[in-house]
Amino acid sequence: MPSPPNSDCNFEMSCSLHFIGTGAADHDWKNIGAPGVRGSACTLLNGHILLDAGVTAAVNLGRFGAEPDAVTDLLITHTHIDHFDPQAIGKIIAARSADAAPLHIHCSPEGVEILRGNSLETQCRITAVKPGDTFLVGETQVTALSSNHLIKERFAEETMWYLFRMKQGNLLYALDGAWITTRTAEMLRGISLDWAVWDATVHQTADQRSFEHNDLTMVEMIIAALKTRNTVTDKTVHILTHFARTLWPDEAATRRIVEEEHGKLMAYDGLKLTF
Ligand SMILES: [Zn+2]
Ligand SMILES: [Zn+2]
Repeated sequence: MPSPPNSDCNFEMSCSLHFIGTGAADHDWKNIGAPGVRGSACTLLNGHILLDAGVTAAVNLGRFGAEPDAVTDLLITHTHIDHFDPQAIGKIIAARSADAAPLHIHCSPEGVEILRGNSLETQCRITAVKPGDTFLVGETQVTALSSNHLIKERFAEETMWYLFRMKQGNLLYALDGAWITTRTAEMLRGISLDWAVWDATVHQTADQRSFEHNDLTMVEMIIAALKTRNTVTDKTVHILTHFARTLWPDEAATRRIVEEEHGKLMAYDGLKLTF
């Protein structure tokens, strides 16, 4: 469970999740920092693994005191602009000191092409990733999982979630995507999750976006189903993120629904959890 938020992460001893951006793509990013405006999806794991870098990533890393030099790896879930913005990635790279090791970016083959098209391949190390791939980032074992999501401009792109297996425990980073694919449910069989970060774009059920994003009821159904396999237990900490501005009430009401009524944690920009 979360311990005091000021205990900075040590790779060996604890696990930290620093939420840099927690909104869906309908937030007014020109007014980032204003009340109610959430940044594009971006999370820093253990102080050095950055998960997604969309439009507001560079700005919000600065706002929340995350050092670009500390980031060793950037893992991209998919190439929607709120998760993958070559300009923002370029700014993060430019903010690193000259003697920092090249940033290692892991993304879909389509993302690799976009990075090359933006001439970023000379400034970082790039590895193509597909669902099913497992690789190491430091001592953390990462597995890319399939997700039910779609880039309309790039129909063939396989969108991904990530599973992190660490000494400290197992973390599922599950955005963007609706439900859980059969393939991913199978790949999670036998694994007990300590923490799960869920796409919670939608509040009310029966929204057209529930073909590509979860609503709150869907999150509860996924969790209940995973409990029958012990992938999720009563000890699993669930954190909801990727809130759409237009599909949830204001911040206070959203927190009440998520935390008091549903017993999950509501991510917000700047939230740092140390486990
Ligand atoms: Zn998104
Ligand atoms: Zn998306």
